[in-house]
Amino acid sequence: MRQPRVGVLALQGDMREHAAALRACGLPEHAVTEIRSVDELARVDGLVLPGGESTTVGRLLRIEGLDEAIVQRAAEGMPLFATCAGVILLATEVLHSQQPRLGLIPVQVERNAYGRQVDSFETRLEVDGMGEMDAVFIRAPRIVATDPRVRVLARHRQDPVLCRYGRILAATFHPELTPDHRLHRYFLSMLGPDVG
Ligand code: GLN
Repeated sequence: MRQPRVGVLALQGDMREHAAALRACGLPEHAVTEIRSVDELARVDGLVLPGGESTTVGRLLRIEGLDEAIVQRAAEGMPLFATCAGVILLATEVLHSQQPRLGLIPVQVERNAYGRQVDSFETRLEVDGMGEMDAVFIRAPRIVATDPRVRVLARHRQDPVLCRYGRILAATFHPELTPDHRLHRYFLSMLGPDVG
């Protein structure tokens, strides 16, 4: 089996930390690439959609034609790992917003829903099958509803914060900002033995 190649969407947001986390999991330098075009997307086996500003990224995705390309690759089975703004981009429904989205995961999200006082916070989660994990939330979206087919892997209070839907892993927090790389490893395991 050849080395899987993973792309990190690099239109805007914290792509460098994701690339570093993937390399820390053992992927060599050349196996992690920044994705800004449809051509670059064609060369990877999986894609990370980092945090950032979902309206900006959504607009840029459309300009580049990457929105349709990602939907197409996802339909063909390419694994996706979305964090924070990435989850907003993949959601089927964003409350009070018509912003561009890919609609690949059947959840309803509300942007910046944790209120101004707790804009950003750190907490400890209990992750299904993995145990405890520190999580950093930064102006995070709140997942307010999930389709029953979406598997919730962790919650903060009542809210789902880590979900799996087919070959999509979605975290409303920032696993790239903590030294614990278990979620990146888990994502890499989703690339599976049929890569290459
Ligand atoms: N608040 C951002 C948005 O709504 C997401 C924040 C993040 O990705 N850290 O797009």
